[in-house]
Amino acid sequence: MWRTVRLSRQITMSSIRNFSALVQNKALINGSWVDSSTCATFDVKNPASGEVITSVPDMTVEDAQKAIKAAKDAFESKEWRSLTGKDRSNLLKKWHKLIEQHAEEIAEIMTAESGKPIVESKGEIIYGNSFVEWFAEEARRIYGEVIPSAVNNREIIVMKQPIGVAALITPWNFPLAMITRKAASALAAGCTVVVKPSEDTPLTALAVAKLAEDAGIPKGVINVVTTAKAAPIGDLLCKSPDVRGISFTGSTEVGKLLFRNSADGIKRVGLELGGNAPFIVFDSANIEKAVDGAMASKFRNCGQTCVSANRFFVQEGVYDKFVSQLTQRVESLKIGNGKSCDVQIGPLINEMQFNKVSGFVEDARSKNANIITGGKGLSSLGSLFYAPTIVTDVPPSAKIYTEEVFGPVASIIKFKDEAEAVQKANDTRRGLAGYFYSENLQQVFRVAKRLEVGMVGVNEGIISAAEAPFGGVKESGIGREGSHHGIDEYVDIKYICMGNLKYD
Ligand code: ADP
Repeated sequence: MWRTVRLSRQITMSSIRNFSALVQNKALINGSWVDSSTCATFDVKNPASGEVITSVPDMTVEDAQKAIKAAKDAFESKEWRSLTGKDRSNLLKKWHKLIEQHAEEIAEIMTAESGKPIVESKGEIIYGNSFVEWFAEEARRIYGEVIPSAVNNREIIVMKQPIGVAALITPWNFPLAMITRKAASALAAGCTVVVKPSEDTPLTALAVAKLAEDAGIPKGVINVVTTAKAAPIGDLLCKSPDVRGISFTGSTEVGKLLFRNSADGIKRVGLELGGNAPFIVFDSANIEKAVDGAMASKFRNCGQTCVSANRFFVQEGVYDKFVSQLTQRVESLKIGNGKSCDVQIGPLINEMQFNKVSGFVEDARSKNANIITGGKGLSSLGSLFYAPTIVTDVPPSAKIYTEEVFGPVASIIKFKDEAEAVQKANDTRRGLAGYFYSENLQQVFRVAKRLEVGMVGVNEGIISAAEAPFGGVKESGIGREGSHHGIDEYVDIKYICMGNLKYD
């Protein structure tokens, strides 16, 4: 049965405020920590307890306009433009060091505002900070080309130049990593940024911005606009001629809107949108490893990651064994306020998410799916806790079969052969991550090539890494983050034709 954890020493935000100077309740524009021009604020709540942590400025379109201007001025300023790749690398290295030094405090802030178990928050800081380190290294390697010309008095020179101001719109599920993955590559390329963090998790964003300031990153290079009214500010960021690129991680619905709104200005657009990841377990799989991978992929961050396994397809020869082992592991998960270091499952982020997850499970139940374990809220812990759930015999008409659940619910579907598994896995308009477990080498290459996704985990449930290109195909997005490809989102390629050269 569920082991729930009640905290003997609940973290309150007043205790965080006392010990962490990193909790900011002002936004950052042009190197100044400022209120909204209307002085309006909105509350940031702890999803585990419902407690108000603090409030932050509810910025307006006019405030966002100031942030864009600050980023534009900073981009054009000598202080930023004159820096070499090595100078920018050094600044990013200092930022990386400061994030590392303040990892404990940032983790507590993150857990308080997102509900993420503290162990996972600490893990996210290492992961998110690895992008700062990676792009500090890449800043010195933004190479151009000299292409041999067909005409002997010419040289064809290609260089990469920063696009200018980039707007970064980020979600709540990885409050630090989604910012560093974008901002570190933008800064490495020589861009300046306006960050619009999620209204659910602005405090982590403000904390890392404070550390960027402490690292000596010049004023106006990173601006953070907090707001509870994302739509009008998103609209401005897409339509302002002073913003040259939009990088967004979030829902497919909002991503499509931003894509459309950026069309007139022919903006550079990078989108990391929703997934519907298949997780296939073939008869040849090592079941223990497959169950480990399934737990990591499905239940990390309470299932609230865009690369979470969304549909488990299990071959009939190993179906019973897999379901029984997974059920055992799921029922032993510790659920509670993420502040406690042995908690593995925290609350869902907000009421909307809770209603979506419970609605999906009820929909499956009404269509005769089998709820093996879970399938209910855990109100004794708090209004946003939902029991880790396994659903089998899921009919294709059920919402959890076709839509991203973004919660701790594993839907399991039995299949007969490889062709059926691949066909069902690809039967979606999404294509972010996909996973499969097989010990059959031929099958491994066949299936890895056939899955219509941007990232494949073969015998692996967690695949994100700073060195690897993260991104999707189909309606899961465009562009790549991380890896050396991540820089491409923030540079223009310029061709310089050197003509009429006299070599003789
Ligand atoms: P989720 O469902 O994961 O919260 P959203 O796409 O709603 O995903 O949110 C991701 C980010 O997009 C958040 O920062 C949110 O404030 C922002 N956002 C939501 N709606 C809009 C919009 N219309 N324009 C710009 N940004 C938006």
